[in-house]
Amino acid sequence: MTPRVIPLHDDRTQGLAPPEPGLGAQPPADALGRPLRDLRISVTDRCNFRCGYCMPKQVFDKHHQFLPHADLLGFEEITRLARAFASLGVEKLRLTGGEPLLRRDIEALVGQLAALRLPDGSAPDLTLTTNGSLLARKAQALREAGLQRVTVSLDALDDAVFRRMNDADFPVAEALAGIEAAQAAGLGPIKVNMVVQRGVNEDEILPMARHFRGTGIALRFIEYMDVGATNGWRMNDVVPAGEILRRLQAEAPLHPLLPGAPGETAQRWAWADGSGEIGLIASVTQAFCGDCNRARLSNDGKVYLCLFATEGHDLRTPLRAGASDAQLQAALGTLWRGRGDQYSALRAADGAAPDASAKAGDAGTAAAAASRIEMSYIGG
Ligand code: SF4
Repeated sequence: MTPRVIPLHDDRTQGLAPPEPGLGAQPPADALGRPLRDLRISVTDRCNFRCGYCMPKQVFDKHHQFLPHADLLGFEEITRLARAFASLGVEKLRLTGGEPLLRRDIEALVGQLAALRLPDGSAPDLTLTTNGSLLARKAQALREAGLQRVTVSLDALDDAVFRRMNDADFPVAEALAGIEAAQAAGLGPIKVNMVVQRGVNEDEILPMARHFRGTGIALRFIEYMDVGATNGWRMNDVVPAGEILRRLQAEAPLHPLLPGAPGETAQRWAWADGSGEIGLIASVTQAFCGDCNRARLSNDGKVYLCLFATEGHDLRTPLRAGASDAQLQAALGTLWRGRGDQYSALRAADGAAPDASAKAGDAGTAAAAASRIEMSYIGG
C-alpha cells in the first residue's frame, strides 16, 4: 500500500514573512537609514540588587512575579536568534539582565555565542554587563568560555552610598574584588558604568574618577534616564553630562577622542597626562538616536527596537513552532526595516520633558510612560 503523506501546516509560523532570496548579502537599514550592529540579550529578569533607578524595592518586592523558567529562552534558542541577527549585520552581542550572572550555567551560553561566526567568518564581539557581585567567582570561567570583556555597573566607591543605592546591603569591596578578578582573568578592556543621580551619588563623581584613572579601566558616567515606569524619574534628578565634564576638568585637563565605533553611546575623553579615558553617556541631554544601531532581545524572546519601546515583537512563539532560520531572518529583517524609533531625540525636541507626571494634562504621554518596558526585562 502506498503511504499517504499529509503535509503538516503550523499556523503559529504563519505571521512570519516568507524568506527573502539573497538575505544576508545586503544587511537591512531601518526607516531612518541606520544599520543593525548591536544586540543586547537579556538572559534573566532577576537581580540580587534593588537599585532605585532600575528595580526599586517597593515594586520588585517579595510579591513580584518573575518569569517562570519555561518562559525564558533556552540557550539554544538564544543562540539561534543571535545567529539570525548576525546574518543581518549584528557584530556585537552583549549579555544583560537583570543580573546575567544569576542565570544558571551562563558560561555554557557564552560558549555557544563565542562559537558563532559572522558572515565574514569573524567572531562576534562578545561582552556582558554585570553588577559585579558574582564576578570574583565567575570571571575565570567566563573568560575560558570565550567571553571577551565585561562592563561593570558601579555607582559609588563610598560603601554607605553603594549599599544605599543597591538597596541590598551589598558591600562595595566585593564589587571591586569582582572588577579585579575580571582584570586578572583578561576580560578587558573593562568598562565601569556609573549612573549619576542628583543628590544621591553626584559627590562620588570625582572619587570614582580618581580611583579608576591610570588603571586601564574606562569609567563612563551615565545620565539618569527615564527608562521603565517604576523609578519615578524627574528631569531635576539628572546631572547633565556637560556638568559632569566641567567637574572632571576642574580636577585635571581632558581632551576629546574620536568615537571607537559607529553608533557608540559614550563620548570619549582622555586625561591629558595619558592616564586613560572616561566616557559620558548623555542619553537625556544630548540624544544619540541618529546612529542608534541597537536591538534588544528580552529574556522571553521578544525583540525591542528601542530602550523606551512600549511593545516588543514575539519571536519565541514562531521559534518554538518550528520556524526555519530563513523565516526568522526574514521576520527580523522586516522588523528592522520598519524601525523608526528615536525616543530620546524626540524627547529632546520636545523640551527634554518626558516627565509624564509633570505633564498632568497629557494623558497620552502619561499612558505611554506607564507602559514603558522595564530595564530589568530588556537590559540597559
Ligand atoms: S532612545 Fe531608542 S533609538 Fe534613541 S538611542 Fe536610545 S535606544 Fe536608540
